[in-house]
Order: sequence, then structure tokens, then C-alpha cells
Amino acid sequence: MSKNFTIKYESGNARVGELKTKHGSVQTPVFLPVSTKAAPKYLSSMDLKSIGAKAIISNAFLLYLKPGMEVLSRKEIHKFMNFEGTVFTDCGGFQKLRSMFITMSKKGIHFRSPYDGSKHIITPKKIINIQNTLGSDVAMSLDDCSPWGSNIEETKEAMERTHRWAKESLEEFSKLKGKGSKMLLFGICQGGFFKETRKESCRFIDNLESNSNRFDGIAIGGLRIGEPIEVTLEMIKTSTAELSREKPKYLMGVGNPADIIRAVENGVDIFDSIYPVENARHGNIFTSEGKIDIEKSKYRFDFSPLDKNCDCYVCQNYTKAYIHHLFKTDEPLAKMLAVYHNQYFMQRFMERIREAIKEGNLKALSSEIVKEYQTK
Ligand SMILES: [Zn+2]
Repeated sequence: MSKNFTIKYESGNARVGELKTKHGSVQTPVFLPVSTKAAPKYLSSMDLKSIGAKAIISNAFLLYLKPGMEVLSRKEIHKFMNFEGTVFTDCGGFQKLRSMFITMSKKGIHFRSPYDGSKHIITPKKIINIQNTLGSDVAMSLDDCSPWGSNIEETKEAMERTHRWAKESLEEFSKLKGKGSKMLLFGICQGGFFKETRKESCRFIDNLESNSNRFDGIAIGGLRIGEPIEVTLEMIKTSTAELSREKPKYLMGVGNPADIIRAVENGVDIFDSIYPVENARHGNIFTSEGKIDIEKSKYRFDFSPLDKNCDCYVCQNYTKAYIHHLFKTDEPLAKMLAVYHNQYFMQRFMERIREAIKEGNLKALSSEIVKEYQTK
């Protein structure tokens, strides 16, 4: 079993844990700011440090295209972007990179580079090596996600491909470990929106073994792709019930505070999403009393901070009226300040979750957050 993850407190299915990687410890439940191309949007790595983010997620395939492995093999990602914490890497993200997608084959996923149109194939083996070379702390195995609305046959086809690729990934990972790699590898389970295939995929990925190596954690893949949140939660519940308790569980692409806390209640430990950034870019500010739209005219004369309960530098130094003005005049600073505050909010929110699990009052925090943040 993974010696890299320790569960410290539990409350129902929720838990506080510690994930040890080659770049330090990460307290879970954790939210990873997305830094797709080795850059967190509107923030620098110094900002990441000051908001207290101990881990981020980058995209290995995009980094392989630019700056390219000839750069990253000389200067691994931590040093390249000057981030000392843990770097997770996503592998191909067929989901997110849909516009680049050409086709799937038995061997892998075929992509077209958004930079110069060149064609590339990502195989399970290749992407593991890319992640290892660029210095990833926590890598993902290549998977195939069936879209929302897929029938059982399509779902099974994608699941079986995911399983074949998981096996190839783990075999390659075992070789790298043999050569001294300290990278961790998470398997991704699929299975669409049918309980039986979900369960089958979770069991398969959880128990897969190569040279007595298993996946260090499990990502619950193929969710939040258009389905209602209740369906998501049902699938999370089905998945976590099937997976080993002692493995960290990662729900990719979820960032709404209400969705996060409900997933935590169902046993999820790790999250990432562009949600706080996308909201901030549009003037939607997360506060201790719910989300506010800073562009509304009522803030023109409001000389109070974005959130009176926030101690980030934005709330300590600027007013709603000023940030309202920055948005109205389309100043780049508007987005920088709003993103900083929202990302800071997310890190404090995850601290509150960990504290609530420890104190046994997650339920109360959950009802408060769901009331403020649940989207209709
Ligand atoms: Zn703030």
C-alpha cells in the first residue's frame, strides 16, 4: 500500500490526510491551482507561495510541445518556474484539449499541436516518460474518457482502452522506479455513468499491479462533463465505496466550493479547477458570504474590502470601489487582484474543511457552503 499517504483524521467518509512527494508534504483535502503551461493564470510562483499553495497541476503534453523536453530535461519544472512545492501533471487531457484532438487509436491519442499544427501521438509509455523527465511529483496515467450521454457499449470501449493503457503505464512506471524515479503515479478510473462499469473500473485500477507496484492514488475520471451535480455525486459515492480507503482520491476539474465540500464528504482528497480564475476574470468574487459580482453599480461607492473576513493583501489594501473601477476600465490589474483573492480564498477554504473534519463539524460547514455556492 502507498506509504506516501497517511490518513490523520476521519469524519464519516471525509478525511484529513498527508501526501508525501519528492517536493514536500501536501495536506489534504487540497485544491491545486491550475498552471497548465507552468504558469498560474494572473499569478506568479511568488504569489502561489504567498497564498500558501503547496501543490499545483500542469499539463505534461502542452509542456512537451512548449518549451519542449530539450528545455525541461535541463531545467525541471520546479526550477524552471521557480515553484518549490509539489507539481502534479495531467497527461493528455483529451477532455480539455478537445480542439487539438485528432483521433484515438489502439496505441494512443493523436493530437495536433495548437502552436504549429504538427501531429503527435501520446502513448501511455511516452507520457509517463515525459512526466518523469520534466520532474513531475505526481503523474497521471493516460486514460480515455467517454462523453456524457455515451451508451453502455461506448462507455465499455473507453473503459477497456483506459484499462489497457493503465497496465502499460504501470509497467513503464515500474521500470522508471527500478531506475530510481521517486515520482508517484495515479491511475484514472472511468466507467462513465453506469454504476456497474464505474465499479468495475475502480476495482481494476485499484488492484492493478506490475512488479509489485500499484498506483499511488486514484483519479476519478470522466465526471463534470455536462452531467447534473447529483449524478456526479452519485458516481463519486459509487467510486469511493469501491476504492481502497488508504489511497488518495483525486477528482479532476471540480472547483465550485459547494461541489468540493460535497465530494469531500464522499471521500475525495484532491481537487483542481480553473473555476476560481474564470470567476475572478468575470468579476465574480468568492467571499465568506457567498459570491458577489464586483461590476454591479452598487459597489461604485463601496469603500470596504472585497471580503471583510479575508486577510489577503488585496483585502488589506484595496476597496470594492477601486476594484469595481478597475473592472469598469478594463485594467489588467482588475483580474490580477481578483484572481489573487479568489485563489487565496480557495486555499483558506480547504484549511477550513480540514479543520472541520478534525473538529467533527464538517456537516455544519457543508450546509453553509452549499447554501452560499450551490449553482442551480
Ligand atoms: Zn481577500
